[in-house]
Amino acid sequence: MILCYNFIVVLSDKMLLYEAKLEGTIDQYSRLDDAIRTGRFVRNSIIRAWLDGQVKSRNEAYKYCKILAENPEFPWARLLNSQARQAHAERAWASIERFYRNCRAQVKGKKGFPKFKKSQVRASVEYKVSGWKLSQDRRYIEFTDGFKAGIFKLWGTRDLHFYQIELIKRVRVVRRYDGYYAQFLIDHNREESKELTGRQIGLDVGLNHFYTDSFGEQVDNPRFLRKDEQKIKRLQRRLSKTQPKSKNRAKARNKLGFAHLVVSRRRNDWVCKLAQRVIQSNDLVAIENLKVRNMVKNHCLAKSISDAAWYRFREWLEYFGVVYGVPVIAVNPSYTSQKCSHCGQIVLKTLSTRTHKCPHCGFIADRDENAALNILKLALKQWANTVGRTEFQVSGEIPLCLSMETSSSKGTQRKRKSSQ
Ligand SMILES: [Zn+2]
Repeated sequence: MILCYNFIVVLSDKMLLYEAKLEGTIDQYSRLDDAIRTGRFVRNSIIRAWLDGQVKSRNEAYKYCKILAENPEFPWARLLNSQARQAHAERAWASIERFYRNCRAQVKGKKGFPKFKKSQVRASVEYKVSGWKLSQDRRYIEFTDGFKAGIFKLWGTRDLHFYQIELIKRVRVVRRYDGYYAQFLIDHNREESKELTGRQIGLDVGLNHFYTDSFGEQVDNPRFLRKDEQKIKRLQRRLSKTQPKSKNRAKARNKLGFAHLVVSRRRNDWVCKLAQRVIQSNDLVAIENLKVRNMVKNHCLAKSISDAAWYRFREWLEYFGVVYGVPVIAVNPSYTSQKCSHCGQIVLKTLSTRTHKCPHCGFIADRDENAALNILKLALKQWANTVGRTEFQVSGEIPLCLSMETSSSKGTQRKRKSSQ
């Protein structure tokens, strides 16, 4: 079994998320289960109230929390810390708002109509700044609300020592296939200095290589991605062979969920290091603005695994870009592989044509290298046109910054949906 502690995720350049495993007794875990169930209850109740027209704004959602807590029919609602109830009201409202936003923007296809959350292994309950207490040495956490889950030992939070308690804005208890975790959202501003390298780079993603850069260098997909893919395929086959609602099905589902978990951790670790290296050795990084919507849709497993890796890689690039002061520019990927990066003429080629040979100017290069050069050129043009605008507007359309108010469950959950 692989145990990966000291897990850090970046929510934006100012928010960090540290994660530690919780060690307690079976009784304590079942109390956490009660808290998680109640969090879901609050969220679902608010969606229900919204459907019934009783809740029409974020403020009304907050007020509805109080109504729930005072209702004698739901004695458990009162046990959850009041701010935690609010946090779940925020989650509910965030999903309602997302739906409204998609409708307003007239997004094609599904608009993400808010759904009721079902009971599942992977779930969480969120506390704000009360309902929990860290010990003096920061090695233990106590949950102090009505569920009385008590004191847990924290595994893997050495980093917590660097931050004052006031900087911890939220604590989230996450139940996973291999146990319970505490996530600490930390208000944080990181800045690092970097020498100028005089290098600008464009990156083109592909299935054959993780990326090809505009210098013609290629980074291959790590071998473990392929191995993981085979493992997940095997487990999926096993799951589909079991009887619905049988014990074996539940077991197989848990195994598959665990495999996805291990895979995503390993992938995150790899892309994080790679992204930091790319940022440190370049002064400008150009990437394709791939749409997550289209990426998640495809049913080919190899593609979806590499897409997930790429998506995470991009998040890390944008994070380190801010930390080291390196612009990361996302450009529209259309025609980047067909255009000649030398003379700008369109040179049509099929997917199997690996080399770009331009009949107009005689430029010859690897297909992906040509694309990477186009991406870099486009990015520089875009950069020149946006000088004076804020970086926020430049950095593409995938929102890296989840604002504190609307941050619900993290993006990784969205990606691992297929495991459910
Ligand atoms: Zn040409």
